[in-house]
Amino acid sequence: MATLGTTRTCAFDAIDEIGAVARKHDVWLHIDASYGGTAFVCPEYRHLMQGIEFADSFSCGPHKWLLINNGCSVMWYTDSKWIVDALGMYKQSVNEDNDNLDLPEYRQWQISTGRTLRSLRLWFVLRLYGVENLQEHIRRGCALAKQFESLCRGDKRFEIVGNVQLGLVCFRLIKSNATNELLLAKILSRRNIYLLSGEIKGIFFLRLAIGSKVTNEKDIEYTWNEIKLVTSMLPCI
Ligand SMILES: *Cc1c(COP(=O)(O)O)cnc(C)c1O
Repeated sequence: MATLGTTRTCAFDAIDEIGAVARKHDVWLHIDASYGGTAFVCPEYRHLMQGIEFADSFSCGPHKWLLINNGCSVMWYTDSKWIVDALGMYKQSVNEDNDNLDLPEYRQWQISTGRTLRSLRLWFVLRLYGVENLQEHIRRGCALAKQFESLCRGDKRFEIVGNVQLGLVCFRLIKSNATNELLLAKILSRRNIYLLSGEIKGIFFLRLAIGSKVTNEKDIEYTWNEIKLVTSMLPCI
């Protein structure tokens, strides 16, 4: 399983390299693009999925960043026969045999037909916005992340962790983990903005995730000012 847009830092695996190895050894390659995959509605981000032709299956969560509320993920297989062979149920009666119909038996694909029809919400959003407005939504989110990144880079006390590729910015004070943990705790206790955190190779950092349709440049400035204000209140700064 390779990931396009990891949860912690939105990193992208080199699926062209992983795919070549998987193909050579006849190993199933699933691509987890839960978050990052939504950005591929924009052609300019599709270079991030170079090697996608090696994928046997691909999942993406429109509820992450494509304006659908929680509970809507899409899954693609090169051949749905595999999932039916591996996990499908035996037919219990002739009535369940719809081989004569020109429809896939979604139940055999692990899509619970006794639950709400979540694909309808996706359909409505696609129809309501259209591809250009969805692209605009993603581009705005990426631009706001870049705006925050440059504010952060302009302050010598801070550093960016990893690359800002989509709507997630990982950053930290160039200080100890303890200072960064204190910064986050104080920010959260004021309840004006909400940030996440992460740790990689022993380095603790803060994470700003942009995903809402209503977030704008002023919110980014407000966020940055709040972070600077709390930073100035830290005892060791
Ligand atoms: C969010 C996320 C998941 C979980 O997806 P859900 O559809 O919310 O269950 C899995 N992998 C990655 C990389 C994610 O960002």
